Amino acid sequence: MKVVSNLILFMFCLVLTVSITIVLAVGAHEHGKSYMTVILDDSILSMSLKLSASDVVGFEYQPTNEKEIEVIGQSTLLLNDTDKWLALTGGACIQKTAKVTSPFDVVTDKHQHEHEHEHEHKNERSVHHDFLVDIEYSCKRAAALVALEVNLQSFFTDIHQIEVQWIIHNKQGLSVIESSNQEIMFNHER
Ligand SMILES: [Zn+2]
Repeated sequence: MKVVSNLILFMFCLVLTVSITIVLAVGAHEHGKSYMTVILDDSILSMSLKLSASDVVGFEYQPTNEKEIEVIGQSTLLLNDTDKWLALTGGACIQKTAKVTSPFDVVTDKHQHEHEHEHEHKNERSVHHDFLVDIEYSCKRAAALVALEVNLQSFFTDIHQIEVQWIIHNKQGLSVIESSNQEIMFNHER
């Protein structure tokens, strides 16, 4: 009887382990495809982008040389400089914040050893890493916001598609940005 219950426990743990593995695998991304959400809430326009590190810098491992560290730095700066790749039509929006979260830890502080240790664990769990960009605008004439243009593909040519989910003027939409079609119109009546 004890053997049977142990066997059941073993099977249960096995199923649980497999389930957890599947859940983590679902979190993995597809290279070439980025995701964006755009939400207008009253006068606040919030955007978040999720870009695979592979599409931004060309690799997803922790940098191993100076050149890779430099590429990460340049890409982070470019993502922060939203004027270069993001444009709004109408709305009189002023950017309040832009925050880029890099999956890489290239800071050279005293805790380097601790960081290295953390990375070993991170890599065990997933080989995929993402850059996150969070942007917030304050729009004086939010009702007049007509369009959004994203030109990231000129700088990061590995990004083939950006899937944009948006909620603007109480309408919801799903649009795809490609190098041939970089603009999303929010006013569908026109
Ligand atoms: Zn990846």
